[in-house]
Amino acid sequence: MASAPVFNHAAAEMTQETDIRKNLSAIGARMAGAAEAAGRAPDSVTLVAISKAHPASAAHQALIAGHRVFGENRVQEAEQKWPALKDEFPNAVLHLVGALQRNKVHRAVALCDVIQTIDRPKLARALADEISKSGREPQCFIQINTGEEPQKGGILPEAADSFIAECQDILGPALRGLMCIPPLDDEPSLHFALLGEIAARNGLQELSMGMSGDFETAIRLGATHVRVGTGVFGERPPFMAKAAEG
Ligand SMILES: *Cc1c(COP(=O)(O)O)cnc(C)c1O
Repeated sequence: MASAPVFNHAAAEMTQETDIRKNLSAIGARMAGAAEAAGRAPDSVTLVAISKAHPASAAHQALIAGHRVFGENRVQEAEQKWPALKDEFPNAVLHLVGALQRNKVHRAVALCDVIQTIDRPKLARALADEISKSGREPQCFIQINTGEEPQKGGILPEAADSFIAECQDILGPALRGLMCIPPLDDEPSLHFALLGEIAARNGLQELSMGMSGDFETAIRLGATHVRVGTGVFGERPPFMAKAAEG
């Protein structure tokens, strides 16, 4: 009688660790190459490793490999994974890159160091209130809906200048930059260039743009933060990937 195959957890963990470490250094090398080709300093671009839909153990592997900057798109999922990881790695930096509801602002500010998805005045005000109450100082980015997609969050490009001015008033120096998520089937460079123009004419320094498929293009067009999930952690597990989009 053939014995049932035994799943070797230790071996699987080790493979995962090797892959994430390798992926991080491969992405880092490609980022540096793209920065140099654009005449930029490699350390002017930060890799935000998007760990959404992956277990805390995956982020833990990246932390052990020396990576420190991560992103999640849901507050609740971040709360399940990050308090323990931050206890162990106090200098880990967590970005929120998904939509934020006002009733979660308190929890988001408590846990996140950067909030990338401000897209309405009430949210900006709620964040400013929470920042002054909590004494925490997350950096803030405004999300621009460069593709004007109805299902996507973000301020429309035509409304960007006045909204940025309003947020500069409300948030002051906490407001650092802009982020965008181009439409899936569009040429991303047009969106990256547009985001760069809006930031430049409003005096904002930081640009969060570029994901696994297009981060080199984004760096060429001035990205200071690229958000790479699949390229670091592999494909998202299908059973969680769906929820993680929302
Ligand atoms: C999931 C996600 C990413 C990462 O996408 P990949 O294609 O896996 O690199 C980047 N930005 C945001 C806002 C995301 O939700």
